[in-house]
Amino acid sequence: MKILVVEDEKKTAAFLSKGLREAKFRVQIARDGEAALTAARPGEFDLLIVDIMLPEKDGWTLVRELRETGVGTPVIFLTARDSVRDRVKGLELGADDYVVKPFAFSELLARVRSLLRRTPAKSDEIRIQDLEIDTRHHRATRQGVALNLTPKEFLLLTHLARAGGEVVSRKEIAENVWDIGFNTDTNVVDVVVRRLRAKVDDPFKKKLVHTIRGVGYALKPS
Ligand code: CA
Repeated sequence: MKILVVEDEKKTAAFLSKGLREAKFRVQIARDGEAALTAARPGEFDLLIVDIMLPEKDGWTLVRELRETGVGTPVIFLTARDSVRDRVKGLELGADDYVVKPFAFSELLARVRSLLRRTPAKSDEIRIQDLEIDTRHHRATRQGVALNLTPKEFLLLTHLARAGGEVVSRKEIAENVWDIGFNTDTNVVDVVVRRLRAKVDDPFKKKLVHTIRGVGYALKPS
């Protein structure tokens, strides 16, 4: 389960991130609304935790814009303001829950778990030309033929696919697919990309996995 924390205060962001990681969630932090808009692609996160008081674009504006672009990921707002008006405004904008600052982490965690239980699993299917990825059932096919991928290969494929054709660096792959920071000199990433390519591209005429020399990889039509 992957959570995006949108919070500009470093201390609060670090506190949330540490607690959520200890509870076995994968966590990404965005420091402002623009970064959050870029990060929160449809299906990328299971949950967004959004502070209302953000520089430039506040949490309300951010969630409204996300909803307008079709991102339906559930949202928990963090707010210092506990007035009925603020709550109503947030709920109208499509927030799913509220936590009022200051809060005990255990309270937030309870809300997170309860919200995730109520929300059906992500059901997004990603399609790139004849490649179809069903992230809910962990299945990928090309021209209707099932690709027999290992869990790591599948995760890598999904991660590349969600970048929308943009280049993903080796470091980013290491952090997101293995959830740890690899020394970028290691060729672990390259090895798994090679295995993925053998299954996704080699049997087919059109190549989708592209190497961007010195940068990383991109999954896109050629
Ligand atoms: Ca803030």
